[in-house]
Amino acid sequence: MNCKKNEMDLLNKFREDSKVFGTNPRQSRQLNLEVLGLILAVLMNSLNPIQAAEKRPNILFIMADDHTSQTWGCYGSRLAKFADTPNIDRLASEGALLKHCFCVNSICVPSRASILTGQYSHLNGVRTLNDALDPKLDNVAKRMQAAGYQTSLIGKWHLKKAPSGFDYWNIIKGQGRYQQPILFEMNLDKPEVQKGKYCTDVFTDKALNWLGTRQTNKPFFLMLHFKATHEPWQFHPRHAKLYQNIDLPEPETLFSSTGPTNSRVPGWPLEILTERMLGRNDHGDGKLILKTDDPQSIRKATYQKFVKAFLRCGKAIDENIGRVLEYLDENNLANDTVVIYTSDQGYFLGEHNYFDKRFMLEESLRMPFVIRYPREIKAGTVLEDIILNVDFAPTFLDYAGMKTPSSMQGKSARKNLLGNTAPDWRKSMYYRYFENSLARPSHYGIRTHHHKLIYYDGIDSPSEAEKWEFYDLSKDPMETRNMYDKEDNQAIIRGLKLQLHRLQIQLKDSA
Ligand code: CA
Repeated sequence: MNCKKNEMDLLNKFREDSKVFGTNPRQSRQLNLEVLGLILAVLMNSLNPIQAAEKRPNILFIMADDHTSQTWGCYGSRLAKFADTPNIDRLASEGALLKHCFCVNSICVPSRASILTGQYSHLNGVRTLNDALDPKLDNVAKRMQAAGYQTSLIGKWHLKKAPSGFDYWNIIKGQGRYQQPILFEMNLDKPEVQKGKYCTDVFTDKALNWLGTRQTNKPFFLMLHFKATHEPWQFHPRHAKLYQNIDLPEPETLFSSTGPTNSRVPGWPLEILTERMLGRNDHGDGKLILKTDDPQSIRKATYQKFVKAFLRCGKAIDENIGRVLEYLDENNLANDTVVIYTSDQGYFLGEHNYFDKRFMLEESLRMPFVIRYPREIKAGTVLEDIILNVDFAPTFLDYAGMKTPSSMQGKSARKNLLGNTAPDWRKSMYYRYFENSLARPSHYGIRTHHHKLIYYDGIDSPSEAEKWEFYDLSKDPMETRNMYDKEDNQAIIRGLKLQLHRLQIQLKDSA
């Protein structure tokens, strides 16, 4: 009976929290229906929790920070054979790899908020790095919890206020640190220094401990969020010798220009990183030492040092994913657990002579994503559909037997992963980046399977034409030529502008 009482308490709390929605009668009616559905789900689960646990899979969501697809072996980029990620690759070969998974705002905090809420930034209010996620907002963890899942969050949170919807949490504040991280277990005022520990290892230790002590009569929903591979890429000393005597392949666009040709956007060139690495021992293997004053050679040296440190941080992630997969195997959980590994956005590794993210260009926009669920997903699946980070929450809820709430803007990709994509599945996606600076102006745009149109509303120019970029991804997948002014493209561009406007209305964004 205690179990039942706890679940009803949770449900009441959920109803209270959800009062921020449903401000008009239609929304209220919809919400009432959803709450009724939830009550039924909770009651069914509390009647026979063991049976329910057998029917519904565990969900293990592992996410890194900035771990871009160029450094995952299974994505086959120029760095694939150097990345050495057998455990991530194993998830892809035993499950599915998403080729066109995108974030709707390519920056850490907003992407995390969109994953939790299933909403775009303009609706959940987390538009920039400075915004906090309101704990009262509905989120996927609250729904999983109310439906009888045991929920847990370990590692990087980055949404400022205390997490809500988790039975257990143990997190770093803000960016935290790589070495000897400070964790906060269920209390943001009680720091615990992890002496002698490396962040990626200790987050995994905590996750395995939690798994070992969880309530086995309930399915679990565990979010394990690594801090790596975020700048400043402090790798573990055990990986210091990796790549020591080799030169990593450079991107084709390292010297083509700063940014795509004809773009009016300066972007974030590697020379900024050069200055940082000359002044600081960021990675733990010393400052950047230059033997030349030739600008091209300096850019090359910066690229090598930065990407090697990035890959070393990624290596620790792969090893720790291996530990988690081994735990699932040893405890006979692999068949009943949906395992996901993704990154909150992509990252430029010297492409266009950029580093960092924030742009709608491919390296930054793409979220690498692999998912394994042996009971449903055919091994070796490669999915071409456009999937967004706002789809993650509806997909988790679908696995847990729940419908997508009307407040969420994403859609479940569960059927897509079975090879049954609905005919009306999206053929285009809407993106919006809100932060604004001269080098990285705010912008929004649309991407289809073949084209991309971007409007830089943050550019201060009297000329409207200077604010647009258009790329034909079929002919120019590396986005090296802005073809907005080319006469042949005008019909396509007019069509894309129309679609863009429709998406803004549909998604309730008044750009
Ligand atoms: Ca990030």
